This record gives sequence, C-alpha cells and structure tokens, in this order.
Amino acid sequence: MSAKKTAAKKPAPKKATAKKSPTKKKVPGKSRAKKSASKSPSKKSSAPVKSRTSKASTKKSATLVSKKKARPVNPLVPKRQADDAATLPPLPVIPPGVLLGTHVSSQGGSFEAPPRAMEIGATALQLFTKTPNQWKEREIDAEEVAAFRAAVAAAGSPVCVSHDSYLINLASPDDAMRARSLESFATELRRCHALGVQYLVSHPGNFMDDRDAGIARNAAAISSALQQEIGDTMLCLETTAGTGTALGATFEELAAIIDALPAELRSRVGICVDTCHVYSAGYDIVNDFEGVIASFHRTLGLERLKVWHLNDSKTPYNSHRDRHELIGDGSLGDAPFRRIMSDSRFSHTVKILETPKLDDATRTDRTMLKRLLEFLT
Ligand SMILES: [Zn+2]
Ligand SMILES: [Zn+2]
Repeated sequence: MSAKKTAAKKPAPKKATAKKSPTKKKVPGKSRAKKSASKSPSKKSSAPVKSRTSKASTKKSATLVSKKKARPVNPLVPKRQADDAATLPPLPVIPPGVLLGTHVSSQGGSFEAPPRAMEIGATALQLFTKTPNQWKEREIDAEEVAAFRAAVAAAGSPVCVSHDSYLINLASPDDAMRARSLESFATELRRCHALGVQYLVSHPGNFMDDRDAGIARNAAAISSALQQEIGDTMLCLETTAGTGTALGATFEELAAIIDALPAELRSRVGICVDTCHVYSAGYDIVNDFEGVIASFHRTLGLERLKVWHLNDSKTPYNSHRDRHELIGDGSLGDAPFRRIMSDSRFSHTVKILETPKLDDATRTDRTMLKRLLEFLT
C-alpha cells in the first residue's frame, strides 16, 4: 500500500483511470445523458438535481452555457452539468438501520460532503478532512464545525467516516518521518473530534526494516495520539493488501498492534475490513468466506469489526496489490458482497464503497449502491 498506489484508487484521482474502464458501459443512462445534454442546456440549472457539482455549477452558471460547446475537448469537465435528472439511476432507497454509502468528495470544504452523500441516498459517508496526499495540515474552526454539522443533519445524519492521509507512516523507523506522521495523525484525530466524525480509518504503516519493531512503533504512535487527543471518534485500523512492507495484511498483525496499546485505549480502536485488500492479502472471501470470518473472530473478535470498505478488485487473489474495481466486476464477483450485505452479524457495521467513480460519481455510486441493495435479504 504505497502512498502512490493507494492515492490512485481514491476518489479524487480516479478519473484518470475511469475513462479506460471497460465496465463503463454498465452504468446506465450515459447515452441518454448525452442526448439530453445537447437538447436542453437550461436543465442544468432548473432540474432538481442537487449534484455534487451543483455549488460549482451554480456559481459558474453564467459561463457554463458558453463553455458547453467546447466541453468535448476537455474530458475533465464533469458531464453532470449538462445532465438531465431523468437520466440518472433512481435515488437508492436504503432501508432503515442499514449504514451504507460511499467515499464522497469534500472538494469545496468538508461541509460539501454530506450533500453529495444525500444525492446518492447514502446513510453513511467517508470523506477526507484534508488533502490526503499532501502534508499540509489544517485546523478546523468553529464556523466549519457548525457548517459541517448542519450539513450532516440536513443530509439525514449519515454516519461519518474519515480516511487519514496516505503519507502518514506511524511505523517508520525514521524518527523525523514518524514524528511528522504522528503530528499529522493527531491533527486528523482532532479534526474528526471537532466535526463529530464517528470513525477514523487509518492504514497501519510500513515497517521498512523490522516487522516486529514496526508493529511496536506503530502502536506507540497510536497510543501517543489517542492519549493526546481525547474524543469520541473511534480509530479503525484498516486491513491492507500487504504491498511491500505494509503492516496490517494479516489479522494477527492488526491484533498485535492493538494488543500493544495500553489497555485503557483499546476500546477506542476498531477494525475496517477492506474486501479488496483482504482478498489480495490472501484471505479467500470468495471461496471460504465463513473461514475468513472465523479467523477474524478468533484473532480480533468480530465485535471489533466496525467498518467495511466494500471494493471489488482488479487483481487476482493473493496478489498483494491494491486496485479497486466496481462491485461484481472484479476478481471477487458478487458472492462476498452478497454475504456481507445479508449477514445479520454485520447489520450494524458501516459499509463504505471506494469503487471507481468513472466519469460521473453520482451516477456510478447510485448504480453501485443499487447493486448492493439487491443483495439485502
Ligand atoms: Zn479501504
Ligand atoms: Zn485500497
């Protein structure tokens, strides 16, 4: 899970790969969208679509009409601005109690994330509270806290999950790197507490030199941050694909990190299982789902499982690679997702998609959520 690799799979940089995806055709409505785009430029402002681009498009609406003709030459211009609401897949209806959503962009500010979640009918969301591939930190002021909390309430109070920066390496043997990572991690926790974010998902670090020493360093840094930043946000260590020297590719390693924390801090730590990562790490959730869950329970205890990252994988079993794919379109197929969605042991867990957005996040995310909702029993 090199920083670069993980960065590439997350929402913001996704568009680069999205265009090439052969699965693009599976997201319905595209051709119709194009037709309607050409016939009704005014729809972008009059249609009742509060798109995730709505703020930007409203602000710039005066210039959009004139820009529209030039749009085809710029693949980065979101198509939604010209979409007809009718071409979007219907708003997913998530049953009460099911905590399901996707990673949503916080472009424009953290308070822009909840409306984007609402636009896809999500009851849970994941966001970045800062630019994830930069060290630059930021504190959150009272105004942003108020705006974010109001936006969450207006979106029906989805459960909020933050994902920490890709640069953080709390297991690094390099003292300066570890100190910088700790500072960034503690600041992230502080932002989560301020915003009222329930879960902070964090990848264990890269040990670089010695695995056991890395586990010890990772745990020491986590305890330091948790002691320093008191609040209700639960830290969820994420399972990793085990690329390079990444810790966290086995349940045992995650347990070792948690066991090395002072006892009084352990109740503030849970686990996020990423389906793509565990499959890449050698847990066969396709052919032995129950065996993997049993192993998780023996090692970590199912009660620690708080968050799922529901991602199919572009790479085969045990590849130790981290490349997310649309649900059902990758090496995992439907089966594990059907299990997770329909198993009452996981009914209280938060389920977040980090699948490619293709060229339209709202359209693709609605389609993905619909796919998952079909697995509910
Ligand atoms: Zn993940
Ligand atoms: Zn991943």
